[in-house]
Amino acid sequence: MSVLDLFRLDGKVAVVTGASSGLGVAFAEALAEAGADVALGARRVEKLDETRAKVEALGRRAIAVATDVSSPEDCQALVDAAVSELGRVDILVNNAGIGTAVPATRETPEQFRQVIDVNLNGCYWMAQACGRVMEPGSSIVNISSVLGLTTAGLPQAAYAASKAGLIGLTRDLAQQWTGRKGIRVNALAPGFFASEMTDQYPDGYLDAMGQRIPMGRKGEAAELAAALVFLAGDAGGYVTGQTIAVDGGMTIT
Ligand code: NAD
Repeated sequence: MSVLDLFRLDGKVAVVTGASSGLGVAFAEALAEAGADVALGARRVEKLDETRAKVEALGRRAIAVATDVSSPEDCQALVDAAVSELGRVDILVNNAGIGTAVPATRETPEQFRQVIDVNLNGCYWMAQACGRVMEPGSSIVNISSVLGLTTAGLPQAAYAASKAGLIGLTRDLAQQWTGRKGIRVNALAPGFFASEMTDQYPDGYLDAMGQRIPMGRKGEAAELAAALVFLAGDAGGYVTGQTIAVDGGMTIT
């Protein structure tokens, strides 16, 4: 087998949450390009249908399931649909997330809880549902953030706490499941990539952040999706419990 063959995902089934916009769309397309069928979950099913069409255009099967990841029942229903319609689940990409920037003295309990509920709790509900059906050789990739590792100038307590928590969750699930179940669990910590989330940043914020990034620019979605494909399949077969920053060097400055 050649090294490039290790990046192929033929015959595998991936579940991608938050696949209705931004990085989730790029992840779904990259997994499909590598050969996987994809079950797509997000709240906006009409937007998900656009992603489904993109996956199908690449010759792979896809299903779109309305899913709010803060609901454990919705997470279970998405995984059940993947198993019943696509046959199995080999890869989970916990990508759904929301961002906020609220000064700590003004943030309400509801605002804080909502971010934790989606960005951290939702990843756990998805991992639990997948962990029950995944076979040895499977892979979970949690989309954390550089905000789980460092700060970036905005007041983001809820977001930073959720993304740092996700790194801890990644480590713990890896130690529970890698040896016993053969499921690898890793995280990606993206720096700045254009998406609906980064569109909401204040004017000039990303330019100012650019000075902290040795690469001197935002990332391209394909540069992150390539790291995802590495972790998703046999190419990353000896990697577990890790968080890989894909951030143009931001976390070393
Ligand atoms: P985005 O806003 O375009 O995408 C987020 C997706 O999550 C959307 O499809 C949204 O509908 C979905 N979502 C939100 N709440 C949900 C819920 N309760 N249930 C199901 N789906 C829900 O933003 P993005 O930049 O593509 O973000 C994707 C992931 O990458 C997020 O976890 C984000 O925190 C992370 N991230 C992004 C960047 C970046 O620079 N873009 C950097 C670091 C981390």
